[in-house]
Amino acid sequence: MVLKVYRYGEKVLREKSAPVACVTDELRRLADDMIETMHAAKGVGLAAEQVGRLERLCVIDIPDGCEDEADALFNAPIPMPLKLFNPAIIAQEGSQKDKEGCLSFPDVGGSLVRAAQVTCQYLDADNRPQMITARGFLARALQHEIDHLDGILYIDRMTAVERLSYAPKLKKLAKANGGVR
Ligand SMILES: [Zn+2]
Repeated sequence: MVLKVYRYGEKVLREKSAPVACVTDELRRLADDMIETMHAAKGVGLAAEQVGRLERLCVIDIPDGCEDEADALFNAPIPMPLKLFNPAIIAQEGSQKDKEGCLSFPDVGGSLVRAAQVTCQYLDADNRPQMITARGFLARALQHEIDHLDGILYIDRMTAVERLSYAPKLKKLAKANGGVR
């Protein structure tokens, strides 16, 4: 089922998610619905807040051909789509600057600095603890989605100059969706 994607201005995007005690059938269905919603919107990641939920859950699916060849090779053992329950970044290194977008910010782009490589711990849909290390685009997606779960939005991490260039668009978007910045 395709769910409503909440946009910038809605209060839920600024809320912090609560850890999942156990992955239930209901939460597995939610993760599947989030993947369907993300695919329908042509996104590569989606966090629970973006569908109005506060469980600590995000999904990621990086299509073939979106990553640098070396990163794609490095990330190849990581199964897609990813359903990450209670994800946490436990190590990071390097830095990368690239374009980023978000389904909650239609028509807003921007580029920002993220760690080049991250190691992430999470619970999979079968309640098994997992650990992955990712680079490049996937590392960026993990940082973006896990930020959502803490109520942090990618515009918070833009340089002041970049954010200023989107200020009129951001103001309009927030106003149309409840006004919470
Ligand atoms: Zn986002």
